Amino acid sequence: MACDANGTAGAIRAAAAVVTEHRTELIDLDRAIGDADHGENLNRGFTAVVSALASATPETPGAVLKTVATTLISKVGGAAGPLYGTAFLRAATALGDRSEVDLEGLVAALRAGLEGVKARGKAEVGDATMVDALAPALEAAEDAAKQEGADISTVLIAAADAADRGCESTVDLVPRKGRASYLGERAVGHADPGARSTALLLRAFAEAAR
Ligand code: ADP
Ligand code: MG
Ligand code: MG
Repeated sequence: MACDANGTAGAIRAAAAVVTEHRTELIDLDRAIGDADHGENLNRGFTAVVSALASATPETPGAVLKTVATTLISKVGGAAGPLYGTAFLRAATALGDRSEVDLEGLVAALRAGLEGVKARGKAEVGDATMVDALAPALEAAEDAAKQEGADISTVLIAAADAADRGCESTVDLVPRKGRASYLGERAVGHADPGARSTALLLRAFAEAAR
């Protein structure tokens, strides 16, 4: 199974619904170690993304992701907007003008997204950021894509499962990037909000691909 522009837009709308559903949870996570706006930032951004997709009808998966990227960059302040914006922009570039996302395209898009976040934010695994969810998700996706009978769905499920575990791992870490790093040791015991939102987005994509 591959995923065309419509399918990609559907997955993004599903992700937007999940962000709205988890808005309060993300706000609460960010209240503990940041400034309590992560859920609102993302909800505002993805609500604008849904409107943008409704009026633009992009014709390729890459064009859909480019619309997501430019909308997030323009509507979301704070750290997460530019970081997710860069991730979606790099993923869009990786997909190029192909008409459908196949397995190889999916893995390339995830890889490009992670590289974009790392280039923009300079965080590595272990710094307690969204990278701690996205990096293991990419690794799991690469492994899952090599399995017999792999498809978009199995690869995204593996990525989402790994992102969940990666998010859980941030509870024990001392944050070294972003606002949470100002708290140092006092942030230990709390999951990183961006790692949680990354896990939620990947789970939404996996559900949409079932
Ligand atoms: P802000 O911290 O500006 O209020 P958000 O609350 O929307 O922005 O986003 C915070 C999240 O952004 C963090 O939980 C973390 O996952 C992510 N983040 C912050 N700085 C970085 C960075 N340098 N690299 C990667 N991710 C980062
Ligand atoms: Mg915040
Ligand atoms: Mg903020």
